[in-house]
Amino acid sequence: MASVRVAVRVRPMNRREKDLSAKCVIKMDGAKTSITDPKLSEGAAGDPGRDPAKTFTYDFAYDSGGSGLATQEKVFLDLGRDVLEAAFEGYNACVLAYGQTGSGKSYTMMGNPGDAGLIPRICEALFGRVADAARRDEASFRAEVSYLEIYNERVRDLLRRKSAQASNLRVREHPKDGPYVQDLSKHLVQNYGDVEELMEAGNVKRTTASTGMNHVSSRSHAIFTVNFTQAKFDAEMPSETLSKIHLVDLAGSERADATGAAGVRLKESGNINKSLVTLGNVICALADLCGDADANGGQKRKSVFVPYRDSVLTWLLKDSLGGNSKTIVIATVSPADVNYGETLSTLRYANRAKNIINKPTVNEDANVRLIRELRAEIARLKDLLLRGDRTALLDSPTALSVEEKLQRNQAKVLALTKEWTNKWNETQNILKEETLALRKEGIGVVLDSQLPHLLGIDDDPLSTGVVLYRLKEGRTYVGREDAATQQDIVVRGAGVESEHCAFENRGGTVTLVPLPAALCSVNGTDVAAPTRLTQGAVILLGRTNTFRFNHPKEAARLREKRKVSPAPSPAVSAHAATPPPPSLARPRRSGPSPTFDPSDIGEALTGAVGGDGGGAADAEPLPGPDPGERRSAEELRGGSLAEPPRRPAVRVDIPRYVLRGQGKDEHFEFEVKMSVEDETWTVFRRYSRFRELRKRLSCKYPQLAALEFPPKKIFGNKDERVAAERRNQLERYLRSVFAVMSTSGSPLCDDPSDDAELARPVSKRSVCELSPFFKKGVFESGRHGTG
Ligand code: ADP
Ligand code: MG
Repeated sequence: MASVRVAVRVRPMNRREKDLSAKCVIKMDGAKTSITDPKLSEGAAGDPGRDPAKTFTYDFAYDSGGSGLATQEKVFLDLGRDVLEAAFEGYNACVLAYGQTGSGKSYTMMGNPGDAGLIPRICEALFGRVADAARRDEASFRAEVSYLEIYNERVRDLLRRKSAQASNLRVREHPKDGPYVQDLSKHLVQNYGDVEELMEAGNVKRTTASTGMNHVSSRSHAIFTVNFTQAKFDAEMPSETLSKIHLVDLAGSERADATGAAGVRLKESGNINKSLVTLGNVICALADLCGDADANGGQKRKSVFVPYRDSVLTWLLKDSLGGNSKTIVIATVSPADVNYGETLSTLRYANRAKNIINKPTVNEDANVRLIRELRAEIARLKDLLLRGDRTALLDSPTALSVEEKLQRNQAKVLALTKEWTNKWNETQNILKEETLALRKEGIGVVLDSQLPHLLGIDDDPLSTGVVLYRLKEGRTYVGREDAATQQDIVVRGAGVESEHCAFENRGGTVTLVPLPAALCSVNGTDVAAPTRLTQGAVILLGRTNTFRFNHPKEAARLREKRKVSPAPSPAVSAHAATPPPPSLARPRRSGPSPTFDPSDIGEALTGAVGGDGGGAADAEPLPGPDPGERRSAEELRGGSLAEPPRRPAVRVDIPRYVLRGQGKDEHFEFEVKMSVEDETWTVFRRYSRFRELRKRLSCKYPQLAALEFPPKKIFGNKDERVAAERRNQLERYLRSVFAVMSTSGSPLCDDPSDDAELARPVSKRSVCELSPFFKKGVFESGRHGTG
C-alpha cells in the first residue's frame, strides 16, 4: 500500500501577469502551501471575519521566487530518483503533471532546451545506471519507449511516421496485462541518445499538429512510456522484473472545470475534455473509497464505482490510479491573483489526490516465478525424503515416487533456467566477442566485424535477416549439409558440391580455394585455382549462393589512403574511391580472376599523381595458368599516372526541385539533368525513386553501396529545407555513381585503352540501360506519380 504522493510547484510570474501588476497569492512554508483570496484580503467583499487564506499540505512544495526557487534538478532529485528506484526494483511508476494551461506542466515534464525536465532527466539517469550495472556485469536490461497523445478521445502515436497508421488507435484490454493501445509503436532503445531522438521526434510531431489548431496542445494529454525489463541472478536464482513508467503531461485543467467551482464532482456531458473530467471523477471516487476505508476501520464501501472506462486517459492509466503503481501527481500553478480561481481549484484537486492509495507490487516474469515455486517444491521434497516420510508424498497408489517427483522437478528447473538464461545471454554473448559490434547509424543498424567476413546475399525473395560468416585464421570449409565431414558454412541449392571450397585466412590474407569441379566465381569470373580476395569482392558459389567479401582492415587502410590522396575532381566524391566494379554485367572470359587492388581504382578515379609508392604492394596476383591475362596493380597504376584524370562521360546536375501532387500525395520532385556528349535530357524524380535506384544499383554493383546517400527521415519530408539539403546530397550521390561506373571495367567506361570487349562509346542509351530511373517518362503512370 502506498499513497499517491503529491507535489505542488509554482512558476514565476510571467510577462502578462507582471504587465497586469498581478499580486502573488501563493505562500509556501515548508510543506505548507497557502493561497489568499485577493478579494477577501482587500476587504472589498465577503465576510471580514473569514480567513482569506486557505492552507494545504503536500508531500513537496516547490516555490518559484527568491531563495526558495526550486530548480529542475531539485525536482528531479526529490521525485525523479524515486521513479528510478521503482524501475530498478520492478515496480510500475507514474508521474502526472496537472494544472491550468501555462502553469508549467510541460516545463516540469519535458523542460526547455538547456533546462531539461523530469522525462529527459529520468531517462538519462536510467541509462546511466544501466551502463554502470552492465559494466559490472550485474544484470541485463531491455528498454522500450512509446509516446502517444490523446486528443478528443482519440489516441495518436507520436513516434510513427505514417499518419494513417498513427492516428485513432484502439484501446483494448489484455486479460492479464490490462488496457493497452493496439498497434502503438514501441521502440527498443540502447542508450539515452536513442531516447532523446525519439523524444524530440515525438515533441515535434506534437507541436506541429497544434499549429493552426491553437488549442490542440493545451487540450491534449501526452503519455511518454518506458517499459523497462531487468534480468539478473540473485543468489543463484534467476530474477526478471518489468517496470512500466508512465510520464504524463495532462491537458490544461481549466478545460475541465471552466466555472472554477471546485469540490463538485464533474458530471457534465458534452465536456470539452472527457478524459480530464473523468480523471477528476476517478480521483474523487478513489479518494472517497480510500477515505471510507479509513473511516470504517479498513472496510471499504463497495458501492463506490470508479469510472475508469469512461475515458481513454483513465482507462490507460488504470494501474497508475489506485492500482499497481507508485504514482506522483505534480500540481503546477501560477502565483498571480488573476488566476486565483484556477489555482485554488488545482490545489483542491491535488489535495484530494493525496487520499488515493495504490497497491504497487513487483512485476515478476512468469517463468521466473515458476522456477522459484518449483525450487521451493524441490526443497520440500528433499526435506521429506530426508525424514523418510514417503507416505505423505503419495497422493494415490499410482502417484510418482518421491525420487521421481524430485527428479522431474529438478530437470524442469534446470531446463527453465537454461531457457531463460539463453534468452538473455545469446545476443549479449555474441556481441561480447571482441570482433563484433552492433551500433545504430541514423535509422540503420550496423553490424561490424573486425575479422574478414562474408555477407550472405540470399536470392530467395522470402528470406529475411542478414547472415555474417567470420573467416578466422586458418581454413573455413564450405559445403553441403550431407558432406562426409562437417562444414563450417553450409550452403544449398543448384551447383553446390558436397565439399565445395574453402576460405583460407593466413595472417589477414584471404584466399578462396575451390575444390575440384566446384562452381566458384569471383566478381563474375569463374575461378578454378586459389584466388586472393580483396575488399568488396562478390563471390558466387554454385549457381545461387552469393556472398560479399569484406575485409575491414584492408578497407580501413584504403580509407586512410583516400584521405591523403589529392582532392577529387569536382564530379567525384571522396566516396567514389571504392573497390573496382565486379564485371557482373558482362563476364569476362573464364579463367583465373584478375586481381584488383581497390586502392588503384581509387587513385585512377581521383587522378592521384606521384607520392605513395608502396600502395599496391599487398595486391600481388597469385600464380595462375596465364599470368599475361592479368593486369597487375603496377600496370593499372602506370595507366593512371600516364593519363590525366578521366572525367566521367556522363554529366549530371540537379538544378532544382519542385512541389508536385496534392493533399496527402504532395511531395518534392528533383529535376535530374544529364548529358552525354551532345545529348541532354531531364527527368523528374522524387526521393523514394532515388532510394529505389540506390537499392537496385547497390545490389548489382556492390561497390556503389558505400556511396554517401541522404538518409530516410521520419519527419520533414515535405519541408523545404530538407528538400534543399537533399538536392545537394542526391546530386553528389549521382555524380559519384557515374564516376564509379566510368572506371575501368565498368558499364560506362569508354576508355579505348580498356578491355576491348567493354569499350564502347557511352550514350544516353547505355545510361538508361543502367536503370529505368534515368529513362524519360517510365514512371509516368507509377504509384508514386510522375517522378
Ligand atoms: P503548460 O504546459 O502548463 O501549459 P508550460 O510548461 O508551457 O505550461 O509553461 C508556460 C511558460 O512558463 C513556459 O514558457 C515555461 O518555460 C515557463 N515556466 C513554467 N514553469 C516554470 C518554472 N518553474 N520556472 C521557470 N519558467 C517556467
Ligand atoms: Mg504544455
